[in-house]
Amino acid sequence: MKKKQRQSDKSCDYCAGKGYFQLRLGGSETCPCCGGTGKK
Ligand SMILES: [Zn+2]
Repeated sequence: MKKKQRQSDKSCDYCAGKGYFQLRLGGSETCPCCGGTGKK
């Protein structure tokens, strides 16, 4: 099996790899750190 080429396996520390934040007031916001990819 071939490995998928990725720039990094590490998840974004800012959003814990989700790519977005869950807002307390409701809804979500794209993580500015990783741009929504959830990766570093
Ligand atoms: Zn992020």
